[in-house]
Amino acid sequence: MRYIEPHAHMVSRVTDDYVKMALAGCKAVCEPAFWAGFDRSSADGFYDYFRQLTEHEPARAAKFGLPHFSWLCINPKESENVKLAEEVIALIPKFLDRPNVLGIGEIGLNKNSRNELKVLELHVDLAAKHDQLILVHTPHLEDKLKGTRLILDVIRSDKRIKPERVIIDHVEEHTVKLVLDTGMWAGMTLYPESKCSPPRAIDMVEVYGNERIWMNCACDWGVSDPLAVPKTALEMKKRGHSEAAIDKLVFQNPVKFLSQTPRFRI
Ligand SMILES: [Zn+2]
Repeated sequence: MRYIEPHAHMVSRVTDDYVKMALAGCKAVCEPAFWAGFDRSSADGFYDYFRQLTEHEPARAAKFGLPHFSWLCINPKESENVKLAEEVIALIPKFLDRPNVLGIGEIGLNKNSRNELKVLELHVDLAAKHDQLILVHTPHLEDKLKGTRLILDVIRSDKRIKPERVIIDHVEEHTVKLVLDTGMWAGMTLYPESKCSPPRAIDMVEVYGNERIWMNCACDWGVSDPLAVPKTALEMKKRGHSEAAIDKLVFQNPVKFLSQTPRFRI
């Protein structure tokens, strides 16, 4: 089996996870900028985090033969402070030319607040100005449907953004069609406790097909599983999906989306 892990927060994982992922057939790991589990106190904290994502983590992954890529932003959970967000967004352009940077993400909404929306618009503008791919985090549980609609409206209202260059992550049964109908990509996050379980993800593929869809583990410092993608691939095999169909979903699809930036090379 070969697969791409398109969404994993490796800065919070141990090196053993890199070994296991490489053994399971992972060919590249991509890391969106995210909340650290606590609020950072200044833009300087983000500056160091962006250095970690673009310098230290690729070197750590390389020890296990894994190409490591990253996405940059201030995540929605810390976007309530608009002044801080503006300071962080101002730092990002100087990192965009680094060799492992794929685009702007994971941006989006957390509680669907007015300030989060303002910061989302700033990020979409940044991506448009610098011709970057976009990776979007959608809120959880009762906020998901409303948040997904708000996010799609913001992105569609900026005519500089091509839908096929945007992936909306953490889709669930009630949001996947909404996303695919816009021409954007949809990400299914496989999580042991919340978000989407492997059987639910496979059900969605069986209903909505496997075009413009990828799967990821989104492993971070919380309860999560860095091997969720290969485990789901095995589950698909048990259900009778062909090797070719599985390869498309876990390898070819992410390669197709990510290859829209010349910096993604494996
Ligand atoms: Zn994430």
